[in-house]
Amino acid sequence: MPHYNYDLFVIGAGSGGVRAARLAAKAGARVAIAEDDRIGGTCVIRGCVPKKLFVYASDFSQAFRDAKGFGWSVDWARFDWPTLRDNVEAEVSRLSGLYRKNLDGAGATIFEDRATVIDANTVRLNRAGAAYTAERILVATGGHTYRPTDIKGHELGITSTDAFKLDKLPTRILIAGGGYIAVEFATVFSGLGVETTLVMRADKVLRGFDADVRAHVHAELEQSGIKVVTGATIREVAELASGARLATLSNGVRLEVDQVMFALGRQPNTPGLGLEAAGVKLNARGAVEVDQFSRSNVPSIWAVGDVTDRINLTPVAIREAQAFAATEFMGEPTMFDHADVASAVFCRPPVGAVGLTEEEARAAHKDVRVYRTVFRPMKHILAGNPQKSLMKLVTLGAKGRVLGVHIAGPEAPELIQVAAIAVKAGLTKAQWDATCAVHPTAAEELVLMSEPVPHDNEAPA
Ligand code: FAD
Repeated sequence: MPHYNYDLFVIGAGSGGVRAARLAAKAGARVAIAEDDRIGGTCVIRGCVPKKLFVYASDFSQAFRDAKGFGWSVDWARFDWPTLRDNVEAEVSRLSGLYRKNLDGAGATIFEDRATVIDANTVRLNRAGAAYTAERILVATGGHTYRPTDIKGHELGITSTDAFKLDKLPTRILIAGGGYIAVEFATVFSGLGVETTLVMRADKVLRGFDADVRAHVHAELEQSGIKVVTGATIREVAELASGARLATLSNGVRLEVDQVMFALGRQPNTPGLGLEAAGVKLNARGAVEVDQFSRSNVPSIWAVGDVTDRINLTPVAIREAQAFAATEFMGEPTMFDHADVASAVFCRPPVGAVGLTEEEARAAHKDVRVYRTVFRPMKHILAGNPQKSLMKLVTLGAKGRVLGVHIAGPEAPELIQVAAIAVKAGLTKAQWDATCAVHPTAAEELVLMSEPVPHDNEAPA
């Protein structure tokens, strides 16, 4: 039996890595974890957490506008960017400290260093130069923002990571991308009073979401004052004498802005990690190929989270890590089920989605019924706020299983967490209908939709 320095060496102290290290150490394993940046990873340092705090900040401008219809006078409202930026940074540092404390408390050894895989059982710390052996290696290195290096002047643009640290709030910003990060940052900047333009190749925002949600959110973003340019990309960015940026789009349009932000997707953090040398198979996007137990083709190397490019969300990385720790260190073989994972987009209106989109359901099943309602939430009427909500159920037949739930409206991310339980449990439309409404709420619409939307392929109800 070979002697290893550690039972487990985790590379990357983000959502997945920290969870796996903590659980394995608590189960009695000798665990080391290496982190190249700050402990906490993308979610805590430059993703979900600071982003959500920015969204809260940007929501106030609409809340102040809405307040007038309810008798409030808030004309004194002023926004101070450094206060928000620095308070968010303080909270991020607090959370990072908590993650470290939890790792320490569980008995894991923390190396603040970049790690490289040398072979199937050896990891080297780049700055310290030391090498350690481990019976198991877990790659949890996450991903990084894609920077389009083929665009002339791309270095003049920022990414989501830079957006959290800006010295000054821009007056005008151009954001490239139509995915959830682009849309969320457009919402944030617009809500903070920045003149915001989104430019994307697609004809609608939020590719991958249900078509009705995409159309609804797209229209609401435009209605809220965000300019959306579709069917175009940024071709070139140049710096003007004033320090502003001049962006030339593929459709010939030229835009002068203060910042250009690229939100064009993320790539797995595998370059330079030594995985190919250790014989680990990567897919065409550079993600680690793993089986349902998150094991790579090399039996002593596993990978969880964004570096595997399965579903790139924090709770998924955490569940994959939990399943790995349960399987390898607690004697409970566990596979994480990637079906019916709910997701949210924190734009205005926010989105919550779980299960199949209408397009996916119709491609997979014959008797698909769709129930849809579009309405103005009660609060918006007195407020004079024109924003509408959309709710949609995709079901198997008139009484059968609810395959998908799609919501765009206030509190959609909160609602979808609860709806996801019903979808995951396989509850039927008949069971949703049998559930009594809570009144007056927007959520009651979810149990009150009785008439399916007519569709060519549907049998009469
Ligand atoms: P990460 O959290 O990225 O952790 C990987 C860690 O590995 C990093 O700390 C990195 O520094 C470290 N590392 C990399 N290489 C090495 C190396 N060689 N040696 C040592 N350390 C290394 N998800 C949600 O669920 N909800 C959201 O609202 C949400 N919003 C997001 C907003 C933004 C702007 C971004 C960018 C992401 C968002 N995500 C969100 C996605 C979420 O952050 C990720 O899915 C999640 O962090 C993945 O966890 P992970 O453990 O795989 O990787």
